[in-house]
Amino acid sequence: MIHLEVLPGIENATLIDRDRHQVSRSNISPNALKVLYKLTAAGFHAYLVGGGVRDLLLGLQPKDFDIASNATPEELRKLFRNARIIGRRFKIVHIRYGREIIEVTTFRAPHDAQNQIADDISRRKIRGLDSAHSSAGMILRDNVYGDIDEDALRRDFTVNALYYTLDKFRLLDFTGGMDDLKRKKIRIIGDPVERYREDPVRMLRAIRFAAKLGFTLERDTKAPIDELAHLLESISPARLFDETLKIITSGHVVKIFALLRKFNVGKYLFGPTLTALKTAGDTERKLVDLALHNTDKRLAEGKSVTPYFLFAALLWPGLRQQLAADRASQNSCPNFQQAANASLREQLDYTAIPKRFTIAAKEIWELQLRIEKHNRRSIESTFGHPRFRAAYDFLLLREEAGEQLNSLGQWWTDFQIGDTKRRTEMIAAVSKSGAKRQRRRKRKPSSNTE
Ligand code: ATP
Ligand code: MG
Repeated sequence: MIHLEVLPGIENATLIDRDRHQVSRSNISPNALKVLYKLTAAGFHAYLVGGGVRDLLLGLQPKDFDIASNATPEELRKLFRNARIIGRRFKIVHIRYGREIIEVTTFRAPHDAQNQIADDISRRKIRGLDSAHSSAGMILRDNVYGDIDEDALRRDFTVNALYYTLDKFRLLDFTGGMDDLKRKKIRIIGDPVERYREDPVRMLRAIRFAAKLGFTLERDTKAPIDELAHLLESISPARLFDETLKIITSGHVVKIFALLRKFNVGKYLFGPTLTALKTAGDTERKLVDLALHNTDKRLAEGKSVTPYFLFAALLWPGLRQQLAADRASQNSCPNFQQAANASLREQLDYTAIPKRFTIAAKEIWELQLRIEKHNRRSIESTFGHPRFRAAYDFLLLREEAGEQLNSLGQWWTDFQIGDTKRRTEMIAAVSKSGAKRQRRRKRKPSSNTE
């Protein structure tokens, strides 16, 4: 085993002995341990870092385990048959064990160090690069490797920059992360304005971690967010969608949504929703609220959440407003398809959404129309629709939000629990009442004239 003491940059770390922290090997994924052991056996340095260490220190179950090492991506690929190099700008290595992926990054120098390196290649402190890889091209692609202390400084928040080593199972703290963890503070590493300019997504991450961990944003970390929020306009919709997915599946979407609004960053992710909510009625506002709450509740119960359901709810107020405006404008009959497409298109300017999700959201909306019509002939096909269950949940949400829909939610609940005979009766009853209604309507004008 290679010893910690020989690691360049280690002199800048505070070492925390095993008896002074509660990261236990028994809570680390066996696959992550395997990677750590194999790398150290091969003579490399390897550390658990990021959310894995942070969450274990807080007694939470980490979502995934990230490893930082002085092994280069190419060296990692040689060592692990199941390793794949991904990413172009930042090369990272994914080591796959069945469904679990262990992400390994090579120690990286911070951003401005890269510029210095470009200026003066002879003075650079690049570790683990052979000459073929130390070309200017690689430097321009930001894959400049550094020492562990530099790697710590280029990370986002102090609580995300704690390193765990198998060497006496100690922790390495370069940025005061342990203190911030104790004080429950999200503190950005370095100059906040500079770090947000470098990567505006860090503003979203700060908010997400604060909400998820129940931490507060440290004063200087919080101060520039409102003013710099507009920098998020320069982030690709694809990356913003990734971030949105993390928000949706965080289990704390209610809190994050509130913070996003408070700090004026929400409009760069959910612009159309926030605009629509300004003029939306109570029921629509409540629907969005309930959908957010349900998302967190489902996750707390260990159930899965489908992002398209939440998108369907978030875009619902805007869609309704558009349909109402169409109806009000002379002679135009509201075209549902067009309105649905327009709502989705508008959101796509903010966050990309995979096509399978936009299709599913549209199906939920279309099924609302079918359900509302309650036409005998479409009951079976509505029920057999692959998106029926989501549409039914959506219907219940609308009723819970206060929409008066003729107890259709209850009707569909009964229909689902009924046996074939009961279902046939229910459909027959609909056909009768439907026919009655039609006859009455036809008769009315004549009776009025009598
Ligand atoms: P979680 O996985 O629970 O969402 P995490 O902290 O592990 O949280 P990841 O996105 O998995 O977050 O990233 C792993 C680590 O990489 C982070 O802890 C942080 O140290 C670093 N990191 C990730 N994104 C950034 C970024 N935009 N800027 C700087 N460092 C980052
Ligand atoms: Mg992680």
